[in-house]
Amino acid sequence: MANSQARTARRTHLFTESVIREMTRVAGEHDAINLAQGFPDFSAPELLKEAACAAIRADINQYAITWGTVNLRQALAEKYAERYGMEVNTEQEMTVTCGATEAMAAVMLSIIEPGDEVIILEPFYENYGPDAVLSDATPVFLTLEAPAYRLEKDHLEAVITNRTRAIVVNTPNNPTGRVFDREELQMIADLCLQYDILAITDEIYEHIYYEGEHHVLATFDGMRDRTIIISGLSKTFSVTGWRIGTIIAPPDLTDAIRKVHDFLTVGAPAPLQEACAVGIRELGQSYYDGLKIDYRERRDVFLSALRDSGFKFSTPEGAYYVLADFSALSSEDDTTFSKMLAKDGGVAPVPGSSFFSVPERGRSVVRFAFCKTIKTLEAAGERLREFASARHS
Ligand code: GLN
Repeated sequence: MANSQARTARRTHLFTESVIREMTRVAGEHDAINLAQGFPDFSAPELLKEAACAAIRADINQYAITWGTVNLRQALAEKYAERYGMEVNTEQEMTVTCGATEAMAAVMLSIIEPGDEVIILEPFYENYGPDAVLSDATPVFLTLEAPAYRLEKDHLEAVITNRTRAIVVNTPNNPTGRVFDREELQMIADLCLQYDILAITDEIYEHIYYEGEHHVLATFDGMRDRTIIISGLSKTFSVTGWRIGTIIAPPDLTDAIRKVHDFLTVGAPAPLQEACAVGIRELGQSYYDGLKIDYRERRDVFLSALRDSGFKFSTPEGAYYVLADFSALSSEDDTTFSKMLAKDGGVAPVPGSSFFSVPERGRSVVRFAFCKTIKTLEAAGERLREFASARHS
């Protein structure tokens, strides 16, 4: 057999397959409860599903406009105006993509020259590293320390160089659950302005937080022209399989982003874009309020089981993940522990090393996703308590 390294591009040797999706397969093999990959196991809103069926029946089944249907872009513009006080030009500043994942790749491919540095705060969502590699960027990692995961100005300033092109800011954060406060975001804004850096914000969890507020960096003084907002409907409407992501960026950047997006995917699914437009317009504030209440309950049920089982963690302020230290339960490394917990404990997490540039930093932590029904979380909690008590007896 040919040597696959010789037949494949070097850039593909620089990252591995997604560990998050690998753990979903491990969960399947052992019939474990999958708290690895962050997708809900409950239904999407009825109104949204009806709107998707109606769009398909109305024969909205061909390509949408490459950068997004008129309806969805208008609904989004209304939302940004009402909620964040931002005027967004739907013709020049908006692109709809196949999920936030494509959005991040398209953005990096559009703004980065080979060798440019991109600051990534770690622990990070696992896509950012490979996205940087695919766009020939040099990722520069800045570790935020547990338990506070707070961003300090002198630490950020220390990693800025004259090659720094952009910083990726994910709030509410996957995997830490941090929601950056106004002070931290102001500090990022100040440094972006001082050193002429672009901010790429990943705001996919913008409606899921328990403490504080979600601040949009683009609304800070001077930042509108240097911020690219990535978000989407996957998490807000519990439709991770629909692949509807969104980008808001200044017109010159949007031009480049739209071209890359066009040749990557042509466009996101047309009928599902129509359904999301209906969802954004009809569901509104009471839906977002309900989402937070439901997620808080899920979080609290799961965290109490985690605490009882001997894990140590910082309480997530937003998003739907918790990074948990398992040193009281095992001295194995994170990957061994995750597979053991899936096989013997019946609950699958993600090994912590997936969220760090240096695997050692995540050696004694795992990430659990709690975007599941209370019933699933109670069953997982029961299994964790049993696993822990068997290890202590
Ligand atoms: N964002 C989700 C997570 O972190 C799903 C990742 C994925 O599989 N695209 O688990």
